[in-house]
Amino acid sequence: MPRRPRRRGPDIEVLRLGHRPGRDPRLTTHLALAARALGARRLWLHPPDPSIRERLDAVRARWGGTFEVLPCEDWKARVRAFDGTTVHLTMYGRPLPAALPRLRRARRVLAVVGGAKVPPDLYGLAELNVAVGAQPHSEVAALAVLLHELHGPPRAREFPGARQVIRPSARGKKVEAAR
Ligand code: SAM
Repeated sequence: MPRRPRRRGPDIEVLRLGHRPGRDPRLTTHLALAARALGARRLWLHPPDPSIRERLDAVRARWGGTFEVLPCEDWKARVRAFDGTTVHLTMYGRPLPAALPRLRRARRVLAVVGGAKVPPDLYGLAELNVAVGAQPHSEVAALAVLLHELHGPPRAREFPGARQVIRPSARGKKVEAAR
């Protein structure tokens, strides 16, 4: 696998809780696609689901980069063992702007997002409980805003090994073989 170029800002991993294997795989797929496209390194999936991993492996083979989906059997152990800053994204948390200076200074960040129900223990285990606006919306939206604030849009060079690249165009779709 190609080496991942270094980025500015923290190295970001995502832990997705409350995935329902076999039920509405689109939402978790979209979460993983947004995480990958906006610069996260990997997504831990609880409970594990090989079908999401396979989808993202296929995206990586075509569009490059080193993003991976990894199984998470024990989410509490994953949060406790994380060597960096853990941030739970929740509408009940403190506003994101107040947490950004600390998150930007961190070397590594684990962003935890939930599904329909969030285990109450998570509020105590996470170092930070952070809201992207104090209204309910979506794990995909909350993660996208966090990644954008911490990294900005990734550059093409951050997806080495792509088979094809998009040629930005004002109209239509232009895709060409990567050199
Ligand atoms: N009532 C749930 C809760 O306890 O947060 C809302 C679940 S929501 C359908 C699924 C996930 O989206 C949440 O676990 C959280 O990670 C994320 N989310 C939704 N709204 C958010 C917000 N305003 N700020 C941060 N994260 C949010």
